Amino acid sequence: MPAHTSRKKSRRTGPRVKPRIVARAKLPSRFGEFTILGLEGRGPQESAVALVRGNPSAGGPPLVRIHSQCLTGDVLCSERCDCRAQLELSLKKIGRARSGVLLYLPQEGRGIGLMNKLKAYELQDRGRDTVEANEELGFSADSRDYAFSAAALRALGVRAVRLLSNNPEKVRQLEAGGIRVVERVPCQPRVTQRTRGYLKTKKKKLGHLLAGV
Ligand SMILES: [Zn+2]
Repeated sequence: MPAHTSRKKSRRTGPRVKPRIVARAKLPSRFGEFTILGLEGRGPQESAVALVRGNPSAGGPPLVRIHSQCLTGDVLCSERCDCRAQLELSLKKIGRARSGVLLYLPQEGRGIGLMNKLKAYELQDRGRDTVEANEELGFSADSRDYAFSAAALRALGVRAVRLLSNNPEKVRQLEAGGIRVVERVPCQPRVTQRTRGYLKTKKKKLGHLLAGV
């Protein structure tokens, strides 16, 4: 059985979450003018930052990126993964779009948390790939859940999106959460010598749609 069939499915069991918008402010950045919103659900895992461009609830499906937090990549510029490159590419594209949303989620290390991700890196330094390392630590290959993301988009008045993603599981979970994905827009920065091995594993074991890897 290919490893990606064992991925954890959506854990949503109870009634649909209704995220609250708890803050809203202007956020000019080097990628353009955005509005930043804080959204909260039922606990620390149910929170998200939304960076909004234009009016995503009017004028056709907005360009949307759902980005899982990666301290090592996004902040420390690690090249073990392609997170920062994907984040920058997404912000550049959303910054140029008529409307768009970047949802930034506290799902470090594909949902296993920062300390466990660092432990997984240690195992990878000893030869495991990213999926083997997570599994050796007792986690599934990908523990992320996008039910809250779908709810957050609904709270922003979004019902259909053009989704910047290479991950078919993300598309599946969003649609299960009531968001129509009218188009999947590839989110693939230039492949580097350092990221190639990691991306090969994502393609082979997690089913990500990556060209030229
Ligand atoms: Zn990363």
